[in-house]
Amino acid sequence: MILTNKIVIEKAKSLGFDLVGFAKAEILGEETIFLEKWLKSGYQAGMSYMERNIEKRKNIINILPDVKSVISLGTNYYTDENYSNDDGTGKVSRYAWGKDYHLIIWEKLDKLETELKKIDPNYECKFYVDTGPVMDKVWANRAGLGWLAKNSNIINKDFGSWIFLSTIITNYEFEYNEPIEDWCGTCTTCIDACPTQAIIEPYVIDSNKCISYLTIENKGDIPETFKGKFDNWVFGCDVCQDVCPWNIKFSQVTFEKDFYPVSGNKEIKLDKVTKMETNDFKNRFANSPIKRAKLKGLKRNALHLKN
Ligand code: SF4
Ligand code: SF4
Repeated sequence: MILTNKIVIEKAKSLGFDLVGFAKAEILGEETIFLEKWLKSGYQAGMSYMERNIEKRKNIINILPDVKSVISLGTNYYTDENYSNDDGTGKVSRYAWGKDYHLIIWEKLDKLETELKKIDPNYECKFYVDTGPVMDKVWANRAGLGWLAKNSNIINKDFGSWIFLSTIITNYEFEYNEPIEDWCGTCTTCIDACPTQAIIEPYVIDSNKCISYLTIENKGDIPETFKGKFDNWVFGCDVCQDVCPWNIKFSQVTFEKDFYPVSGNKEIKLDKVTKMETNDFKNRFANSPIKRAKLKGLKRNALHLKN
C-alpha cells in the first residue's frame, strides 16, 4: 500500500502529535546565508556545534541521499500552570517542567516509523528532535506549521509557540504545504520585554546575552554585567514567549501528562541547589531536561541569583 498525507497525519495524531506538515526537500539558500551571517557575528556564543555540518543543514541530501520530503511535527507542551514566585526559588523554563521531551517524542517517532514501514516497507526515514544537523524551524515554516517569529520561535496560529518541533527526512513523496507568512506585523513586544536585550534586531538573537543560553548551554561564568537582570530565571527563560500576544490568546493545554510539572521542577529552591551533591542531582533530574545544565551549571545559576 502507498503512504499518503492523510495516512501519515492520522497515524501521527493518534500518537499524540498536534501538528503535521509536509515540505519538498530542497537546498536551503537564503536560510543558510542567514545562518552563516549569524555564526560569523559570533551570536552562537559557546554553541560551536552550530558551526558543524553546514553542508547537511543546507542540503539534506547529505543526510539521506534518496530524500524527497520533510515531515515537520509539532507537539504542544503548554500546561495551565504558573509560578508561585516563593522567596528563595528560581524559575525554570516551561519546556523543562516535566519529563524530558526528547524521550517522549523519540518514542513517538520510533512508533510512527514502525507503523509507516508496516504499510509500505519502502518508506525510509531519519528523524530528529531539535538535535541533529537540520534547520527544524525553517522546515516547520516551509511545512506550514507556523512562521519564524521575531523572537526566533515558530508560532502556530492554533497553539502559539509552546510546541516542540521534530523533523522527519524521508525518501517518500507527498503533497506539500505552503510556507506560513509572518504574522508578527508591527509588534515588538518580545524585543521590548527581553530582560537582557538579547533580541538585537527582529529575528536575531545574540546568545551571548540570552538568559536561556547563559543558564543552559553556557559552560563558563555568567558575566557580572548581567547581575540583577535575570528576572529570577535559574534554568532557561520564557519572557519573549510569555509576553507574545499569540501565546496569550491561543495557548491550549496539552493532553500529554508527561509535560506537566514534576514536583519541585517548576521553581527550584536555590539553597537546595547550592548544597546538592552529584548523586542527588543525577537522581532528581535523570528524566528531566534540567540535567542538560549539569550540576556545575545549575549551581552557578543559583549562586548568580542568590549573590
Ligand atoms: S529567552 Fe529570555 S533572554 Fe533570551 S531572547 Fe527570549 S526573553 Fe531574551
Ligand atoms: S511578541 Fe510580537 S513580535 Fe514577538 S514573536 Fe510575538 S507577535 Fe512576534
